[in-house]
Amino acid sequence: MWDFETDAEYQAKLDWADTFVREEVEPLRLILDNPFDVNDPYRNALIRPLQQKVKEQGLWATHLPPELGGLGDGQVKLALLNEILGRSGNAPMVFGCMAPDTGNAEIIAHYGTDELKRKYLQPLLDGELFSCFSMTEPQGGSDPLEFKCTATLDGDHWVIEGEKWFSSMAKHAAFFIAMVVTDPDDKPYRRHTMIIVPSDTSGIEIIRNVGIGSWGERLDPRAEHAHIRYNKVRVPVANTLGARGEAFKVAQTRLGGGRIHHAMRTVGMAQAALDMMMERAVSRKTRGRPLSDMQMVQEMVADSWLELEQFRLLLMRTAWKIDKLNDYNKVRADISAVKVGMTKVLKAIADRALQVHGSFGISDEAPFVHMLLNAYHVGLADGPTELHKSTLARLLLREVEPCEDVFPSYTRSIRLEKAHEKYGALMKEHGRL
Ligand SMILES: Cc1cc2nc3c(=O)[nH]c(=O)nc-3n(C[C@H](O)[C@H](O)[C@H](O)COP(=O)(O)OP(=O)(O)OC[C@H]3O[C@@H](n4cnc5c(N)ncnc54)[C@H](O)[C@@H]3O)c2cc1C
Repeated sequence: MWDFETDAEYQAKLDWADTFVREEVEPLRLILDNPFDVNDPYRNALIRPLQQKVKEQGLWATHLPPELGGLGDGQVKLALLNEILGRSGNAPMVFGCMAPDTGNAEIIAHYGTDELKRKYLQPLLDGELFSCFSMTEPQGGSDPLEFKCTATLDGDHWVIEGEKWFSSMAKHAAFFIAMVVTDPDDKPYRRHTMIIVPSDTSGIEIIRNVGIGSWGERLDPRAEHAHIRYNKVRVPVANTLGARGEAFKVAQTRLGGGRIHHAMRTVGMAQAALDMMMERAVSRKTRGRPLSDMQMVQEMVADSWLELEQFRLLLMRTAWKIDKLNDYNKVRADISAVKVGMTKVLKAIADRALQVHGSFGISDEAPFVHMLLNAYHVGLADGPTELHKSTLARLLLREVEPCEDVFPSYTRSIRLEKAHEKYGALMKEHGRL
C-alpha cells in the first residue's frame, strides 16, 4: 500500500513543534553566542525550560528506542520532525537529538558496560553534557587505513598517542569517543578500537579549534572543530566500546542513523531557503514588475521545488525501508544515495535563493551563505560525496549479471528472434510470418 498521510495525532505534535521552533527556538541564534556552555547560567536559563517543554510534549530524543526513553516511533516520523528542526541550528539540541551526541549515545547503548552507560550515556540522553567523535586524522582524512593515532596496552590502561583532526565539539565535550589503531598488524578492518576518553584526562592537547568558512584574516570566534594531540593519554581498558579490533563494526552503529538524520534536517533547511526565495520573488520589484514575473526566476523556483520534492520522497522511502527492514546494512545503497543527494539539493537551492535576493542575499542579514557552507559540511562529514557515489554504484552493480554474448541481451535482432520463438505459430496463423 502506498500512503503519504501523517496520522492526525502525530500531525498535531508536528504542528506544535513547528510553531515552537519558529517562535521560541529560532530567536536563540540571535541572542546566544555559545549554546554549548552547560556552566553558563544565561545559557541554561534560556535552553533548559525549552528542553523541559519538549519533554512534556513527549518529543525529547525521539530517535531513541523506548528502552532508552525514546518513543520508538521509527524513522518516518523522525524524518517529519527533523524537517522542522532543520530550520534552526539550535533545535536539535533543544529536542535532544543533536549530532554527534545521537550517534555516540547509540554506540554506548549498544557496546557500553553498565558503568559506562551510567557515567556517560544517561547524562548525554538527559542533555546534561556534550560529547565528541574523534576519528578523522590530519594526514589521512577519514580513511581508517591511513590512521596513525595508536593506543597501546599498559597494565589495565590504554595509552593513546597521536593526532586527530576536525573533532567537532571537543571544546564543549565531557568525553570523546576516539577510534584508534590498537592492532596495526592485523587485517585492515581489524586494526582499530573505539575508546571513551574523558575530556579532563591529562595529556589531551587541543592544538587549535578550526572554524568553518572564511572570516578573512580573522579567526571564527565560534570555531569548534578541534585539531587534537593525544600525548600519552591514559584511559582504563574498561572504557573500550565493543571488542578490541572491532571499531569498524562499532562505527557502523552510528553512521547509518547519523547520515539520514542530517539529511532530514537538510530538507528543512532547503525548504526554508525556498520559502524565502519565493517570498522575495513576489515582494521585490524591478522594471515595474515583481521578480516572480521573470521567467528565469520562475525557473529557479520550479527547479528548486522539483528537486526538493524528489529528494524528500527518496529520503522518506529510505526512512520507511529502515523501519521495515530494521537493518541499516540492507539500506546502505539508499542511505548513500540520500547522503549524496542532500548536498546537491541544499547547495542548489541555497545558491538560487541567494541569487534571487541579490546583495541582500550575500550579506550577513540573510542566512544563505551559512546554508551554502552547511551544504559543503554535509557533503564532507560522515564521508565525502564521492565515496558515497562509489558505494551506491558498487552496490547497484553487484546485483547485475554480466552478459556472456558479444551483443547485449536487449539487442533488437536477438529480442525479435525470441519473440518469433514465442509467438511464431500465432503469427503464421495470421499470415504475419
Ligand atoms: C563540518 C564538519 C564536521 C566534522 N566533524 C567531524 C567529527 O566530529 N569527527 C571526525 O572524526 N571527523 C569529522 N569531520 C571530518 C569528516 O569526516 C572528513 O572531512 C571527511 O570524512 C573527509 O575527510 P577529509 O576532510 O580529510 O578529506 P580527504 O579524505 O582529504 O578527501 C578530500 C577529497 O578527496 C576526495 N576523496 C576522498 N576520499 C575519496 C574516495 N574514497 N573516493 C573518491 N574521492 C575521494 C573527495 O573529493 C574529498 O572531498 C567533519 C568534517 C566537517 C566538514
